[in-house]
Amino acid sequence: MTENSKVMFERAKQVIPGGVNSPVRAFKSVGGNPLFIEKADGSKIYDIDGNSYIDYVCSWGPMILGHNKKEIREAVISAASNGLSFGAPTELEVVLAEKMMEYVPNLELVRMVNSGTEAVMSALRLARGFTGKNKIIKFEGCYHGHTDSMLVRAGSGILTMGESDSSGVTDTVANDTLVAVYNDLDSVSQLLDKYEVAAIIVEPVAANMGVVVPADGFLKGLRDLCDKHNALLIFDEVITGFRLLRGGAQAFYNVRADLVTFGKIIGGGMPVGAYGGRREIMACIAPLGSVYQAGTLSGNPIAMTAGITQLNLLVDDGVYQHINHLAMCLEKGLNDIIKRNQIDAITTRVGSLLCMFFGISSANNYREVKAADTERYGKYFRGMLECGIYLAPSQFEAMFVSYSHTENDIAKTLECAEKVLIEMRKEG
Ligand code: PLP
Repeated sequence: MTENSKVMFERAKQVIPGGVNSPVRAFKSVGGNPLFIEKADGSKIYDIDGNSYIDYVCSWGPMILGHNKKEIREAVISAASNGLSFGAPTELEVVLAEKMMEYVPNLELVRMVNSGTEAVMSALRLARGFTGKNKIIKFEGCYHGHTDSMLVRAGSGILTMGESDSSGVTDTVANDTLVAVYNDLDSVSQLLDKYEVAAIIVEPVAANMGVVVPADGFLKGLRDLCDKHNALLIFDEVITGFRLLRGGAQAFYNVRADLVTFGKIIGGGMPVGAYGGRREIMACIAPLGSVYQAGTLSGNPIAMTAGITQLNLLVDDGVYQHINHLAMCLEKGLNDIIKRNQIDAITTRVGSLLCMFFGISSANNYREVKAADTERYGKYFRGMLECGIYLAPSQFEAMFVSYSHTENDIAKTLECAEKVLIEMRKEG
């Protein structure tokens, strides 16, 4: 029963556009009503109807340790007793920046902001300010937050000029965004030959079109192309940062980025983003340089405390071993089920990020994954929810495994998956 959530959704729609503060939460692409969540603990979330679910959304990534981690909760409560915001420097901001620099390669200065969107927006402005060039290359299907210039995925054709997916984005802005094909270096090379490009921005593991794994040599190829064309390489590590490894995708794939954007995990569940990179580039930001960027709540003491505490707990390698192992078991289990029951689906995975696509046989870029059968995913999603498993309410999102997930959680998830998939097959 999700009666209370239904009533609450109706009430929410009276005061919030579509009843939600971020579109995917509305369950539009999977059908049904969103659950309103009362609390979360460990690997579980609880809705206002008293149902509990094994959670694979994990707040879209930040909760790498699971929900309501005691150490983070206590640190936040303690920090709150000193005041919520000062609008002046604190030691906490310095500590979080130092911690990030300790683990992440090529971070020589870090600026804190309040969201991944803000981090990307600021990094792009900085790249333009530093290089004196305007164009940015992004990849079809990669999401970098909702700053105007990134709401561009482009239409058909490999080398199209940007065309925005959102109304309200001017052509002038969209035209400075060039769109290439993920895992296709030629598509990038052709754009670089034709335009003066300030930067290439990429999700090192594309995790906003389901999970699309970078092909061998793709990220290194981008590095080489950037060097050849004097463009900056920006790794958007809002998802991959501190998830693939403490050093993020740069360390995981051994490829150097000029600028890196962060969010999610570094805030421990509080609203945080950050961007950083080579000193020479970062020194262009005000007050050192002429690229302006500011924020009333940037470096907020509560958010910094949550982030520092979470990063301290990630020092234990056991966390990464655990989440990667469980994700691997989940992937293997799903693949076995797919095979055993001849389900038309595939899985993709890097570390603790994974995805199951229905109705396609390969997932190398947006064109391939967008052919996935979203209707069948919707059915699967609803069946899993009914069984107590909370998956992302969209085919084109990742599953996140946390340190609080257990072998039992995985076993129950696989049991539900097999039951739901068999039922779906029977229904045809
Ligand atoms: N970049 C990536 C890769 C993301 O996945 C997201 C959000 O999911 C963002 C940027 C935007 O972050 P935020 O939602 O914190 O603004």
